[in-house]
Amino acid sequence: MTHDVIVIGGSYAGMAAALQLLRARRSVLVIDFGTRRNRFASQSHGFLGMDGMAPGDIVRIAREQLEAYKTLTWIDDTVADVSGETDAFTVTTCAGECHDGRRVIFGTGVTDALPEIEGLAERWGKHVFHCPYCHGYELNEGRIGVIGTGPNSVHQALLLPEWGPTTFLTNGVVPLDHDVRADLLRRGVTIEDTPITRLSGDATVELTDGTSLDFAGLFTASVVAPSSDVAERLGCQIEDTMLGRMISTDASKETSVPGAFACGDTARVPHSVALAVGDGSWAGASVHRSLIS
Ligand SMILES: Cc1cc2nc3c(=O)[nH]c(=O)nc-3n(C[C@H](O)[C@H](O)[C@H](O)COP(=O)(O)OP(=O)(O)OC[C@H]3O[C@@H](n4cnc5c(N)ncnc54)[C@H](O)[C@@H]3O)c2cc1C
Repeated sequence: MTHDVIVIGGSYAGMAAALQLLRARRSVLVIDFGTRRNRFASQSHGFLGMDGMAPGDIVRIAREQLEAYKTLTWIDDTVADVSGETDAFTVTTCAGECHDGRRVIFGTGVTDALPEIEGLAERWGKHVFHCPYCHGYELNEGRIGVIGTGPNSVHQALLLPEWGPTTFLTNGVVPLDHDVRADLLRRGVTIEDTPITRLSGDATVELTDGTSLDFAGLFTASVVAPSSDVAERLGCQIEDTMLGRMISTDASKETSVPGAFACGDTARVPHSVALAVGDGSWAGASVHRSLIS
């Protein structure tokens, strides 16, 4: 059979898109690998009505609600390739199955490239974060360290004093000119230029001069890129953003390939569960309109 829509990536954005289409009684195939971006965190914050819930519980409830619609098909698998054109896409999974769809939606999320500092990756989502709106409140106004990666780190360091006394660890990779230094000092930010050796404890930063700084939590600006390259291989245009790379879309969330849409972190900035859900809802409605035009 040919599905009306094949949604690749069944997390917040992809499920929000699917929901609109299922409610229009369209046949929707969702194919999802199950590697949500926030899987490293035990709580999700800032999504209205679900503040503080486990990220996995939010998607579990959403999937249960989607499965109540008879026109849904769900496959737990990875999409290896997408080919074809509007009204005639073929989606191939790693298991070797081929599925046909009139439209495709990429809700495939992004992957975070983290600074290569010993001890950082295992603290990601637990004691090291990127989004103060998501995880700043829980630090209870304790000391915050910002680990520099590039120009976005300056933005983080200027913002974070809202959540607690902030130290900017430039780590030898973020040169600060006189004006930026003055801006940071005006915000009450302590600037630490000594390079970092490793992280230890919960959120202790060990420096190359032998000193250790204890923090309630750490932030760092990761660099993101689409988690999957299937959209790019289909021919979808990719663009650079201040956070990394994403799939380009127009106002209706259609990519540069007619009939192929994208939503959520992989196709917008900035990023959050709420924004991914909103983006996915709009993509779902746009795809539906494209099916009847
Ligand atoms: C550590 C951390 C903590 C966070 N905490 C919060 C928070 O508290 N509050 C908040 O609002 N936001 C938070 N975020 C941001 C939030 O995780 C993202 O904004 C959100 O997950 C984006 O949803 P999405 O549906 O676009 O992508 P994702 O949730 O990343 O989902 C993408 C899905 O696509 C699937 N996929 C990818 N490629 C393929 C393929 N080829 N085939 C099949 N499936 C595929 C993946 O397996 C995954 O299931 C956090 C992020 C991080 C990194």
